[in-house]
Order: sequence, then structure tokens, then C-alpha cells
Amino acid sequence: MISGATLLAGVVGNPIAHSMSPILHNAWLAAAGIDGAYVPFRVAEDRFTGFVESLRGGSVRGLNVTIPFKEQALALADRPGERATMAGAANVLVFEADGGILADNTDGLGLLAALAGQAPGFDPGSGPVAILGAGGGARGAAAAFTAAGCPEVRIVNRTQARAQAITDVLGGEAFGLDRAAAAFEGVIAVVNATSAGLAGEGELDAPLEATPTTCVVMDMVYKPLLTPFLARAQALERRTVDGLAMLIGQAIPSFEAFYGRPPPADVDVRALALKFLEGR
Ligand code: NDP
Repeated sequence: MISGATLLAGVVGNPIAHSMSPILHNAWLAAAGIDGAYVPFRVAEDRFTGFVESLRGGSVRGLNVTIPFKEQALALADRPGERATMAGAANVLVFEADGGILADNTDGLGLLAALAGQAPGFDPGSGPVAILGAGGGARGAAAAFTAAGCPEVRIVNRTQARAQAITDVLGGEAFGLDRAAAAFEGVIAVVNATSAGLAGEGELDAPLEATPTTCVVMDMVYKPLLTPFLARAQALERRTVDGLAMLIGQAIPSFEAFYGRPPPADVDVRALALKFLEGR
């Protein structure tokens, strides 16, 4: 039931129909008995600024932000949080009653939660990590590993200059894809933050055999849940972590930012999301 007092939040992106965030948030809202609703917003690329500006003052409590707006979202916020500033991108905007906009980046929290949940004992401070990709997802991951005490973050990207742009800000080393094997030497984790592997996109040819046998391999892509990248890691007997765990991990602090309390722990949102994925 939508009432006159319903607290509205949502997710903005383009495209947006594939987003699983409404499923997670609305399941939590229903279970918590909150008078709230979470809806998708597809916004044309040149209308994002106008859309966000029109929400100042809080008619919508907050937004998750996805491709391709995360960098623009950070630029529009008057109160950027440290995580978003460090990542150079925001996936959460909160509209304050006084007209201000807070920005946060919970992607990194989701990444670390996924690793903790699916690779028990993983310690991000215990060695170097390699991140494949240099877009918003890779930035969030690099910032999170750095903040968690990781001694060296290696960014490996098809376009090496984009990897360099991240290491110029956060430290670490930039590699082209052709030097991925060198980047994988001695790492405790490899994270795929490219869109390769996404259903319908090309496959990523990464030399996972160059990683130590104890290395944890994670993919941010969750469609399909077992990507070719993770399947290859499993064939090499590496521990793997999937992108759905990260999606849920970033949604938990987002929900708290919008509705002022953590989501109820007794809702199996992973099962719900898997059902949705299977139905596509
Ligand atoms: P961007 O579009 O910003 O970046 C894409 C990156 O992928 C670029 O570095 C690009 O390289 C690289 N890339 C694309 N295709 C290929 C290919 N065929 N071979 C090698 N490299 C390739 O995307 P995001 O960083 O925002 O997102 C990346 C992925 O992570 C997406 O699939 C997204 O859905 C997922 N994601 C998942 C999250 C979760 O919660 N599970 C959270 C955030 C992201 P180049 O620079 O050379 O073009």
C-alpha cells in the first residue's frame, strides 16, 4: 500500500530494467513493515543533472546510482563522503531536508562483505591484490582495498592509461592486459571489474594459472552467476566469490542510508535474486 507518507527511494541508471535493486529493497521494506517504496528510474544521459537537481529537498529520500552516472552523481553532491571521494564515484545519493545532497560509495563495502562471506578468513591487509578493469567498479574496489589496509593494489586494464589514472590517485601499479600474468604474481585476490563475462559480452582472457593456489578469485559480474571467469578459477581449484554477494553487500548500507535502519536480517534476498536471475 502506498500512502501519502510513503518514503520513496530508487535506483537511477540507463538502462535500468535489468536492475535487481528494487527486488532486494522492496522485500526488505515489506519485511520491516516500513511505509516505503523503491522504484527504478531510467534517465536519458543528458538529463541526469536536471533529474537529480529536481529531487533536492527530499521528495525522494535517496537514490542508488548505476551505469553510467556514478561519476556525475559524485560531482552533483554538496556533501561527498570519504568513500565516494576516494573512489571518484558515488552509488548512493541521499537528499537532505535542507536541500543538500550526500554522496557515498557502498560498492567497496559490498565487495569486502562478499569476500568475507564467501571466502572465510580472507584478510585484505595480508598481501597484494589485482583488479581487472578501470571503470567505476574497479575504482570502488581499489579504494576499498586501500582503506582496508591492502599493501599493494595492481590495476590491470585493456586501456592501460585508465589503469594509470587510478594508481596516480590511490597508489599501486598499473598494467596492460598483456602483462596480467606479472600482475597476478603473489596476489591474495583477483577481482574482475570489467564488463567482460557479462551475458552477451566478450569473454576475458586472463591467465589465472599465474595466481598462487591460495588466491581468491572474484567476479563483479553476476549474470550469469557462474561466469566463464569464475568457472576457469574453479577448474584451477581457486576459491571463488560471486558478484551477487557484492550486490547484496552494497545494498545493505544503501537501505540504511535511505530508511535510517539496517534491513531485516531474516529475509533471504539471495534466494529471491537467484529466482529473478533464473527467470530471465
Ligand atoms: P565501466 O563501463 O565503467 O568499465 C568497464 C571496464 O571493463 C573498463 O575497464 C573496460 O576496459 C573493461 N572491458 C570491457 N569489455 C572488455 C573486454 N572485452 N575485455 C577487456 N576489458 C573489457 O563499468 P563498471 O566499472 O561500472 O562495471 C564493471 C562491471 O562490474 C559491470 O559488469 C557491472 O555490472 C559490474 N558491477 C557489479 C557490481 C556488483 O555489485 N556486483 C557493482 C559495480 C559494478 P577499457 O577501459 O579498456 O574500455
